[in-house]
Amino acid sequence: MTETTHTLVIGGGQAGIATSAHLQKQGVPHLVLERDRIAERWRSWRWDSLVANGPAWHDRFPEAEFQGLDPDAFAPKEAVADYFETFAQSRALPVRTGVEVTRLERRGDGFLATTSQGPIRTGNVVVATGPFQTPVIPTVIIDPSIRQLHSNSYRNPDQLPQGAVLGVGAGSSGAQIAEELARAGRRVFLSIGPHDRPPRRYRGKDFVWWLGKLGKWDMKTPTPGTEHVTIAVSGAYGGHTMDFRRLAALGITLLGRAGAYRDGQLSFAADLARNIEAGDRNYLSVLDEADAYAAAEGLDLPADPDARHFLPLPPEVADPILTLDLAAEGIRTVLWATGFRLDFSWIDLDIFQPDGRPRHHEGVSEVPGLCFVGLPWLSCRGSAFIWGAWKDAERLAAHIAARG
Ligand SMILES: Cc1cc2nc3c(=O)[nH]c(=O)nc-3n(C[C@H](O)[C@H](O)[C@H](O)COP(=O)(O)OP(=O)(O)OC[C@H]3O[C@@H](n4cnc5c(N)ncnc54)[C@H](O)[C@@H]3O)c2cc1C
Repeated sequence: MTETTHTLVIGGGQAGIATSAHLQKQGVPHLVLERDRIAERWRSWRWDSLVANGPAWHDRFPEAEFQGLDPDAFAPKEAVADYFETFAQSRALPVRTGVEVTRLERRGDGFLATTSQGPIRTGNVVVATGPFQTPVIPTVIIDPSIRQLHSNSYRNPDQLPQGAVLGVGAGSSGAQIAEELARAGRRVFLSIGPHDRPPRRYRGKDFVWWLGKLGKWDMKTPTPGTEHVTIAVSGAYGGHTMDFRRLAALGITLLGRAGAYRDGQLSFAADLARNIEAGDRNYLSVLDEADAYAAAEGLDLPADPDARHFLPLPPEVADPILTLDLAAEGIRTVLWATGFRLDFSWIDLDIFQPDGRPRHHEGVSEVPGLCFVGLPWLSCRGSAFIWGAWKDAERLAAHIAARG
């Protein structure tokens, strides 16, 4: 027996739940299939102490507040997962958990989804399987004495063997995990690539508020040349600016981008100073733009001169470390916080670019009835974030409803 549904949503993370809520509002019959549990990645792909990167007033769906949490606090990851689960239950969204879609293909005017519980025919599909699907580890280190793990399987400092840790990648995940390990008394080395590092707060406002006022969440495409620049922010310990000088003051040794591994030695590019400078420029540009906006709008906000005072740079910025002998430094763990790639290998349609991204316009693919939601820069910079996925889902649900 082949089950049928008008619209199939694949993935029950925040983007799939948001899509379901908007399809329900539009009166579109649909089914959400989630292979694990609702918001599984918030539960089992992230470390124990993770909190949302944005405050609770911001990192949420516009129609539901976090219960029992100060709006300026940063929700712990289990609270985020519970939030989506409660939201889905409160609206009686048609989510079926524990069902994986293993293949999606075109059938007539619609689609056939092969699932772990049998085939489903549908007229429309919204793929909401996440922006971060397959962990990427860029450098091969063959050394059985070194434990290697990706940030998606890091849980807490006690999980790692005794000894020093080398973190590779200093976006939000890498920087936050390095800080947690240093605070737990570990010796930590951190390899830092190009990054933005907006101020956590400036003149009494969180940076997510400023990015909204400055129109940066609504940017349609990344500024040319910044496509591979990661963002280092943190809501941990109450939320503070991610400043690599502060991490150095905690005892973390800073390194440039990691390169090749040979005979126990890992090489690093001589780009640490350049990466730190570019991060500082990004930081200062947000302050300058915020000041200009406050002046133009006549906002009565407190001055914040401390925001422009930097700690001293550690010596390894001017005199970079270009190779590390991992054994000699006592490094027993290499933690790769090096991002993820997409995996749509289960979709049997010719709509993918060489880098694996689907061809689409703001989530609407060139195959009638097939949409994507939750991907980075789907329609704007906010698209992969909680409230951004909500806005995209609203538009895509209206698109599907209009198809009849
Ligand atoms: C460490 C980290 C911290 C983050 N912090 C924040 C934050 O604080 N605020 C914020 O706004 N964003 C944050 N993000 C970004 C983004 O919000 C999350 O990545 C979020 O999980 C994306 O939601 P999603 O629904 O698009 O995808 P996912 O959460 O990845 O959900 C996709 C779901 O699809 C399911 N699935 C996949 N393939 C199939 C299949 N074939 N069949 C059935 N089900 C399938 C998966 O099991 C999964 O549950 C963070 C990301 C990371 C990595």
